[in-house]
Amino acid sequence: MADPKGFMTTPREEWPRRPVEERVRDWDEVYVPGALLPIISKQADRCMDCGVPFCHDACPLGNLIPEWNDLVSREDWRAASDRLHATNNFPEFTGRLCPAPCEAGCVLAINQPAVTIKNVECAIADRAWADGFASPRPPERLSGRTVAVIGSGPTGLAAAQQLTRAGHTVAVYEKDDRLGGLMRYGIPEFKMEKVHLERRLGQMRAEGTKFRTSTVVGRDVGAAELRARYDAVVIATGATAWRELPVPGRELEGIHQAMEYLPLANRVCQGDLSESPMSAVGKHVVIVGGGDTGADCLGTAVRERAASVTQLDIYAQPGTERDEDAEPWPTYPKLYRLSAAHEEARDLETAPAADADARLFAASTLHFEGDESGHVRSLHLVEVDAARQPVPGTGRTLPADMVLLALGFSGPDREDGLIDQLGVVTEPRGTIARDAEFTTNVPGVFAAGDAARGQSLIVWAIAEGRAVAAAVDRYLTGSSQLPAPISPYDRPMTV
Ligand SMILES: Cc1cc2nc3c(=O)[nH]c(=O)nc-3n(C[C@H](O)[C@H](O)[C@H](O)COP(=O)(O)OP(=O)(O)OC[C@H]3O[C@@H](n4cnc5c(N)ncnc54)[C@H](O)[C@@H]3O)c2cc1C
Ligand code: SF4
Repeated sequence: MADPKGFMTTPREEWPRRPVEERVRDWDEVYVPGALLPIISKQADRCMDCGVPFCHDACPLGNLIPEWNDLVSREDWRAASDRLHATNNFPEFTGRLCPAPCEAGCVLAINQPAVTIKNVECAIADRAWADGFASPRPPERLSGRTVAVIGSGPTGLAAAQQLTRAGHTVAVYEKDDRLGGLMRYGIPEFKMEKVHLERRLGQMRAEGTKFRTSTVVGRDVGAAELRARYDAVVIATGATAWRELPVPGRELEGIHQAMEYLPLANRVCQGDLSESPMSAVGKHVVIVGGGDTGADCLGTAVRERAASVTQLDIYAQPGTERDEDAEPWPTYPKLYRLSAAHEEARDLETAPAADADARLFAASTLHFEGDESGHVRSLHLVEVDAARQPVPGTGRTLPADMVLLALGFSGPDREDGLIDQLGVVTEPRGTIARDAEFTTNVPGVFAAGDAARGQSLIVWAIAEGRAVAAAVDRYLTGSSQLPAPISPYDRPMTV
C-alpha cells in the first residue's frame, strides 16, 4: 500500500452510475464511461494489507486481492494485470457481474465500508485490454491429446482456455448460435456489454481453441460419438431447467419464463430482431421471483417502456445492517440492496408509491385471472409470514398484462438426451454426480459448473472451469501444473 493511512483518509467511492433518466433510454452499461480510472488508485490505497486477507479466502477464485490492490495504488498496471490473470481468466466479467463476497469478507468491513475490490478488479481488466496486456497466450507445444467441452458458458470457456494453454487440442460445442452461455442471452447488455465477451472469444480463438456453434450434443452430434472421438469430455451445460409456478391460471397467455423473455431482448441488442415479440411496452408487468434474474427482467421491462413493473419476493424485506449473530463477518449477509434495475424502477412514474420500490416482499402468488380471450389480466397475492403461511386479510390484486416467472433453476435440461446417451449418473436434485476429481461415473467424462454444482454464479463457474481443467490435464498426462482453486465439495459461505 502506497499510503498506510489510506483507509483512514479516503472514503469509499464506487464507480458512478449514469443518471437513471439517461440510462433507461439505452441498453449500454449503467456506469459512467471513463469515471472509474481517475478514482481507482486512491480506492485501492484503502486496502490495509491486513496480513490475514479474508477477502482472498472469500473469493472462490482465490484472487490475490491485497497484491493487486497494492500494485494499482502504485499504478503498476502491467504487474497488476499479471497477478489478476494468474487466478482469473475473465476478470472483466466478474468485475462487472460478481456479487463480490470478497467485499463482505474485507477486514476493513468490520467497522467501515469495504475496499471497492470488484471495481479495482474491473479497472485492472479494462486497463489490461486497453494497454495490450491481454494478448493471446498460445501453447508452446501440443500434447497430441484432444478434449471436447460441451457448453460455452463461463465454466466451459474457462476450462477450454486452461486446457488449450496446457497444450491440448480443445473443441467447444455450443447449442446456441452464439457463444457465452447465460452471459450471452440471459444477462442483459446494461449489466455487461457483449463486446467484453467477444474480446475474450477472439483471444481464445487466437490461442487455438475451436468453437462449434449451433450444435446440440445429443441431437446434432451423438454424445457417445463425441466420447469415442475425444480423449476426454467435459460437460459444462449449465442448469437451465426452470422452476414452475403451479397455481390456477398459469396456462393463460402472457405468462412467460424469464429465460423465454430475456433472450429475445438480448437478440434485439445483438441486431437479430428490430423489436422483441415479447416486449413489455405499455404493459403492466409483474415479475414473480426476488432474485437477480428477476432484477434483470425488471431493468429490461423498464427499458422496453412498460406501463408499470412490480417484482414479488417471497422472502420478508431484509434489514440494511448485518445481523451479527445470524450472519457474522466475514460471511456474505442477506441485506436490502438496491441494484441498478431497482433504482430505475423506483423512478418510474407508475412505480408502487408506498415504499418507492418496485418490490413487494413476503408476497406469495395465489392465482392469475384472464380476460375472455384467455390472456392474463391480473395476479392475486397474499402476504406470508416467515413460515410462508398466509397472513389473514392481506390478499390483494395487481393488474398484470404480462407475468415473468423468475423462480430459479432446478438443474440441467435433460431434453437434449446428452445425459442419458453418456449414461452419467445424476444426484437426486438433478445435477450431474462427480467425484473429487470432477469425474462422472463414466471414465474420461467430467462435469463442472452449474450442471454439476447447481444454479450458481459466474465466479464459481470460472473457478469450476479452472479446477476441472486441472483434473482433465491430470487424467490425460498423469500430473498437472494447472491451478485448481476449488474442490467439487466447496460451497459458498452464503452467496
Ligand atoms: C438471467 C440471469 C442473470 C444472471 N446474472 C448473474 C450475475 O449478474 N452474476 C453472476 O455471477 N451470475 C449470474 N447468473 C448466473 C450465471 O450466469 C451462471 O451461474 C453461469 O452462467 C453458469 O455458467 P455455466 O457455464 O456453468 O453454464 P451456462 O452459462 O448456463 O452455459 C451452459 C451452456 O451450455 C450450452 N448447452 C447446454 N446443453 C448443450 C448441449 N446439449 N449441447 C451443446 N451445448 C449445450 C448452453 O446453450 C449454454 O450456452 C445469472 C443467471 C441468469 C439466468
Ligand atoms: S471474482 Fe468476485 S469475489 Fe473474487 S475478487 Fe472479484 S469481485 Fe471479489
